[in-house]
Amino acid sequence: MRLKSVKDINLKGKRVLFRVDYNTPLKKVRGKLAVADDSRIQLTLPTLHYLISKKAKIIIATHLGRPDGKPVKSLKITPVARHLEKIIGQKVTTTPSTTGPQAKKIISAMNPGEVAFIENTRFHPGETKNNASYAKQIASLADIIVNDGFAVCHRVHASVVGVSKYIPMVAGLYLMLEVKMLNKLTTSPKRPFVAIIGGAKISDKVAAISNLAQIADTVLVGGGVANNFLKAGGVDVLSSYMQDVVADEKKRGVDFVKFAKKLLDIFHRQRMLVHKFIPVPRIAVPLDVIAAKKMDGYHQTSRINLIKSEDNHCTKNLMYLDIGKTTIKFYKQVISQAGTIFWNGPMGVFEKDAFSRGTKSIAKAIAKSKGTSILGGGDTIAAISKFKLRHKYDYVSGAGGATLEFLAGKKLPGIEPMRVK
Ligand code: ADP
Ligand code: MG
Repeated sequence: MRLKSVKDINLKGKRVLFRVDYNTPLKKVRGKLAVADDSRIQLTLPTLHYLISKKAKIIIATHLGRPDGKPVKSLKITPVARHLEKIIGQKVTTTPSTTGPQAKKIISAMNPGEVAFIENTRFHPGETKNNASYAKQIASLADIIVNDGFAVCHRVHASVVGVSKYIPMVAGLYLMLEVKMLNKLTTSPKRPFVAIIGGAKISDKVAAISNLAQIADTVLVGGGVANNFLKAGGVDVLSSYMQDVVADEKKRGVDFVKFAKKLLDIFHRQRMLVHKFIPVPRIAVPLDVIAAKKMDGYHQTSRINLIKSEDNHCTKNLMYLDIGKTTIKFYKQVISQAGTIFWNGPMGVFEKDAFSRGTKSIAKAIAKSKGTSILGGGDTIAAISKFKLRHKYDYVSGAGGATLEFLAGKKLPGIEPMRVK
């Protein structure tokens, strides 16, 4: 997949709409809002410095939080602009509105190499509806769009997709790196390719699991997502977390247990062979789990062997909260043989020490493996940061939903306008 790049165009004196995802968490410092975690900003700095060095007029556009289409004081862009100002050591202007005459006036007074923010793109109801006239208003502020907001490229929003109808869009350096890494994963991974999927919301992950089962040599499933697969395989999951299938069935027409069953029927019997000829199913589910009656306070944990039937008359109010030691050993063995590893989603409720062993062991095993490791997902990143392993991997994706949709084989609407066909 080739994209039109920011490097291919003349930027001098051009008004560049720099679409990024600076949807950063905020906190109060001495009564004022400030950026609590600037990792999303850091990702785009190479492109920003490049734009400055090429003497473009840089108009930054991002959404912040969920203001529901109207101005919300606590979600104004000012704290993000102040933070960026400190990082780049140059003045960063803000416009009082996203579009309109005031924004236009400020932008027309900009000199080459200067940086300004337009206000939160979601302060207008047209943003999330990809409203054409709102997109046209944003586009009228600039000559070209440089898209470095990979994490929002799965959204059909006015400042992501709509704008590209009116002015050309090219890819920023961070976005290109992200696409390159994920593209390699799906088209030419070094084998065996082992995908590991965990976490809570199966609705976000099922399409990626389905596609990865065809591309990867095996998909190791853990976390809350595994409960759907266990249930589909006839295991009693007792009171374990299950995404509300009824609500989601209405919303999306999918029953995830049925879907998991379909995937298992197709893929469970297909096996990859690893070193020493251990057969590994294409979709592997936990063999044992750590269970407890509650997550907080004092709780007694127990290990349940899911293969031995005598362990299956357990108390109804037990929840499966982590993968067990047999599963850890098995998954670690597979990971150690991998040429490529992709991991999204914790193996258990890693926030609680009693249920963090699975996630930590898998995180360590991936860090140790000689294979190329690519990770993604907000909570997965929180977990590796907690275990101080953040810098032990080849690539940590800055996006969640967009990464999963890419790996599900879907065309991302925010990427399509930049493709060299
Ligand atoms: P990511 O952000 O990495 O994509 P998710 O948002 O899908 O991951 O899921 C992360 C959450 O899943 C964590 O808060 C974790 O506590 C929870 N989780 C993991 N395993 C289980 C489980 N067995 N039961 C309930 N929740 C779980
Ligand atoms: Mg998450």
